[in-house]
Amino acid sequence: MVNSFSAEVQRVVVLGTGGTIAGKAASSGDNIGYTAGQVGVADLLGGIDAPTGVTLVAEQVAQVDSKDMSFEIWRQLAQRCAHWLAQPDVAGVVITHGTDTLEETAFFLHSVLAAAKPVVLTCAMRPATALAPDGPQNVRDAISVAATKGAQGVTVVCAGTVHSAVDIQKTHTYRLDAFGSGDAGPLGYVEEGDVRLVRSWPEGGGSQASKPVGAGAVTWPRVEIVMSHAGASGAVIDALMSAAVLDPLRGLVLATTGNGTVHHALEEAALKAQAAGISVVRATRCMSGRILPKAGEQLRDAGALTPVKARIALMLELLGE
Ligand code: ASP
Repeated sequence: MVNSFSAEVQRVVVLGTGGTIAGKAASSGDNIGYTAGQVGVADLLGGIDAPTGVTLVAEQVAQVDSKDMSFEIWRQLAQRCAHWLAQPDVAGVVITHGTDTLEETAFFLHSVLAAAKPVVLTCAMRPATALAPDGPQNVRDAISVAATKGAQGVTVVCAGTVHSAVDIQKTHTYRLDAFGSGDAGPLGYVEEGDVRLVRSWPEGGGSQASKPVGAGAVTWPRVEIVMSHAGASGAVIDALMSAAVLDPLRGLVLATTGNGTVHHALEEAALKAQAAGISVVRATRCMSGRILPKAGEQLRDAGALTPVKARIALMLELLGE
């Protein structure tokens, strides 16, 4: 049941993982030459007034540049979310995160958490030391979403826009409004602390394996992404299949052209891999749209999932076997 907490006492827990939002540069005019993951999450909350009736709790889970995000951090993050969401007086969880792999972490959490309360990831495109950092407003907006009555599921807040974990993609390298939700569009907007929804809150998720949320270390199945492009060959797949120094390959995501099309040479190698027991999935490298299924396809498709999200889905599927 959503919002079963008492109206007077609500906590919003803010979990820190690093990113540009916690980054520091040598000069305030430098928005790109910074080191990510330097400022603690408690300090990020420094100048932020919580909404009326909300108490903030800060917890540092990791302190990394999200380009270096790891499965172990994901496991810890999922565990901390599950722990806090189970507290009756916790309205929701906010996660500060780098923008580079934000959509992957959001999709992972969406897949493993049964989030009947909100889990809201947020970020910044400018470091904390910038002349006009975007992090504080994003954090404030994310807290507003986490404290919103009826909010649920894993979402992302950036530049006043609320996206679902399933649809969000980083679409820009530099602009403050760096994310899009493709054809689906955003879930809503945060305006002066109020959420204006234009779609429904996402389902609680949690349909995939629950193992990564468990206490012990997880052996993640190795799943690689191989892109189809002009002049592609089967060489990368052949090399992956025979690479003795790595964990054995369990799955392959083909980042395909258009509506799931694959260069014939790459397809031949992928079919060989599939025949050898590797799980192969096609995901389109197009920014928007989904793969429309056609009769006679020998390699299954990931629908609207991007290659990086299809990889997470496949890893969880293999983990659950
Ligand atoms: N490389 C940074 C990160 O993903 C970029 C950012 O946060 O905007 O942590």
